[in-house]
Amino acid sequence: MTQLNDTTIRRRSAAGSTNLEADICVLGAGISGVSAAIEAARLGRRVILADAAPTIGGQAVGSIVGTIIGLYTHGPDAYQITHGLADELVNELTASGDLLRRRSERTGTITFQYEIMQLGRWMERKCAEAGVELLVGAALNDADFSERRLKQLEFATRYGPVTVNATGFVDASGDAALSWQAGLGVREPNAPVYGSLNFLLENYDEAKVAEIDHKLIYSRLKEVGADYGLVRHDGFLFAFPGKGTALANLTHFKTPLDPIGAGKMVLEGREQADGLVKFLRNEFPEMFAKVSVRYYGNPGIRQTRWIVANHQLTLEEIREGTQPADAVARCAWWVELHDTEELVHWEEFPDGHVYYIPLSCMVPKEADNIVAAGRCVDGDTFALSAVRVMGPCMAMGAAAAHALDLAGSGPVNNVDMTELQARLAKNLTNGG
Ligand SMILES: Cc1cc2nc3c(=O)[nH]c(=O)nc-3n(C[C@H](O)[C@H](O)[C@H](O)COP(=O)(O)OP(=O)(O)OC[C@H]3O[C@@H](n4cnc5c(N)ncnc54)[C@H](O)[C@@H]3O)c2cc1C
Repeated sequence: MTQLNDTTIRRRSAAGSTNLEADICVLGAGISGVSAAIEAARLGRRVILADAAPTIGGQAVGSIVGTIIGLYTHGPDAYQITHGLADELVNELTASGDLLRRRSERTGTITFQYEIMQLGRWMERKCAEAGVELLVGAALNDADFSERRLKQLEFATRYGPVTVNATGFVDASGDAALSWQAGLGVREPNAPVYGSLNFLLENYDEAKVAEIDHKLIYSRLKEVGADYGLVRHDGFLFAFPGKGTALANLTHFKTPLDPIGAGKMVLEGREQADGLVKFLRNEFPEMFAKVSVRYYGNPGIRQTRWIVANHQLTLEEIREGTQPADAVARCAWWVELHDTEELVHWEEFPDGHVYYIPLSCMVPKEADNIVAAGRCVDGDTFALSAVRVMGPCMAMGAAAAHALDLAGSGPVNNVDMTELQARLAKNLTNGG
């Protein structure tokens, strides 16, 4: 017999908080934050990776993004432009059968379709192996920022308040939550950039869906989508061969930055997902007569709020592809701006086109020890729509970690650029 019937009565004594120390604190455990945290921990830094969600993975896992794009250039001679942790991801998940390499007919680049849960487990294992301390279920509540330096972040957790003191910080929150909380200037788009709720479908004809002609779906969506409560006329439907599931990215809704709006977004996204199921069953019964939703993702958010950096990356710069003196990452993805309910605005670049992300668009103008990574770096709305995909997010995470490591307690703007670029050489030049 165990003593499970025995209990101890306890009472909260004082509103004390848990106080943690780190060299680098990363806010946001999506693909950019995970990349930054692992790279920084491998450099010997004590790293805390904090996220409001109860597990790590950000949108890559929680919003069922499903495909890694932006790791390769486009065209018949496409080659990989981001390495390091990205190589480990591709090699290890391919070996376990959880990653599928595809050549996209639409864009002529190499993309990687992944098993959602297995990418999440891979991130967890990699963080654990590197010694990254996870602070999950921790919503950022306050920031102690003065004289150009962020000293402390305060979080609300289910287990009471937690403070983290650190020398350097990464804003990988997607919505620039860290910079916003620190009182720094941030940018918000003047017109909505639409989000999408991805979901997994099951019970369809696998052979027919593998050959699906997206154009037929699009024209039918345009004709009768509104009858099913659908607003978007383009998107993607990807089957993962042999797994019995297909990922649908065919919804569009506004992604407001307020707590009640966030709740409405969940309902709006899931209503559209259900509408899409009805649409597929009725309009394409030869493939989808019995289709159903296996799993709804969280609302996927694209561009809401981002930092005001020392430099704003522009559409003109990414079109030209000139390498700036402080380049820290390479990118090739096209402009993909979700600026209307119905359609996505694409701007295609020529085969082999490459452009660069400079450190100066990742460092908030008003701060010395913060580096942003991922979808909240500074770009004009068009440039940001291209660099926010997962390949460059990984490259930016690595760049943020190395920049803060080199900066130590000094201003990140003063880092030795030659040394930083030498460390990131594989992400800047072929054979680097
Ligand atoms: C629907 C959709 C489909 C997409 N499709 C693709 C695709 O096929 N391929 C591709 O490569 N890219 C795709 N993208 C783009 C890409 O997925 C994202 O831009 C990328 O995942 C962003 O990663 P991130 O790390 O910058 O941010 P996120 O993944 O958004 O992570 C930010 C993290 O910060 C946390 N956070 C935010 N605020 C706080 C706070 N106040 N306190 C604590 N934690 C906080 C969040 O909980 C979250 O986990 C898609 C995006 C969307 C929305």
